[in-house]
Amino acid sequence: MAEPLLSAQDLSVSFPSEAGPLPVVDGISFAVDREIVALVGESGSGKSMTGRAIMGLLPRQAQVRATRLSFEGQDLLSLPPSGWNALRGNGIGLVLQDPKYSLNPAHKVGRQVEETLLLHTRLSAAERRERALDMLHTVGLPDPKRVYASYPAALSGGMGQRVMIAAMLINRPKLLIADEPTSALDRELQGQILTLLRSLTEGFGMGLLLISHDLQQISQFADRAIVMRGGRIEEELASGNLASARSAYTRALWAARPS
Ligand code: ADP
Ligand code: MG
Repeated sequence: MAEPLLSAQDLSVSFPSEAGPLPVVDGISFAVDREIVALVGESGSGKSMTGRAIMGLLPRQAQVRATRLSFEGQDLLSLPPSGWNALRGNGIGLVLQDPKYSLNPAHKVGRQVEETLLLHTRLSAAERRERALDMLHTVGLPDPKRVYASYPAALSGGMGQRVMIAAMLINRPKLLIADEPTSALDRELQGQILTLLRSLTEGFGMGLLLISHDLQQISQFADRAIVMRGGRIEEELASGNLASARSAYTRALWAARPS
């Protein structure tokens, strides 16, 4: 059988504490293929640490263990820094919650969208610009040339998030990890961005790990949802199908209105 894009087996992340190592991700196993998988759970359930473990971006004091953590069959736990540099923004992309933390205010949008092309390809400046304008158009920005020449401060939250998605997808990663990509946006914009992510994922044949605390909303956009609780997997749900939920916890999470 072919390897899934991403495979995690018995993945744990712990932080040192006075009482010994404290697991915040506690032996979870899952796989992501060319599909949309939602990783959902309450705040503090370990979603972001799971995403960061996959990206090799855990806080320094964190300890990670797994019997297997692999991307296209390549072991991630033993990857040297040079291997990570080759993988990030290339094989695996990451979109974070707040574009303010991800777009550098000191650099124009165009330069930031092109960055992975500069790092990972031999395209000329003109070719990079063309690809960037094309990608800004693909993510639904109305005036790509103007956005390209703008600084991030000139963008609204929704535009900034679209720019982040463009920057992550320009070099066609096989897997995108999006950690609360819409939490900073209003409800209508959230739906627009999630719809965009869904259509790009399908169009590019990518895998998407969509991290969110909002089970009800996110499960409409995912092929399946993995529900986390206290660092463990509570259960897995088929897309948008609460009827398949076995646990009372998942049903309560579904009914909870996000603030
Ligand atoms: P989620 O994304 O589901 O809200 P996180 O994965 O960010 O949750 O965090 C899981 C747990 O790890 C939380 O209880 C949090 O307090 C703890 N945690 C996160 N970062 C650190 C850290 N640097 N040191 C100790 N504990 C941490
Ligand atoms: Mg989080």
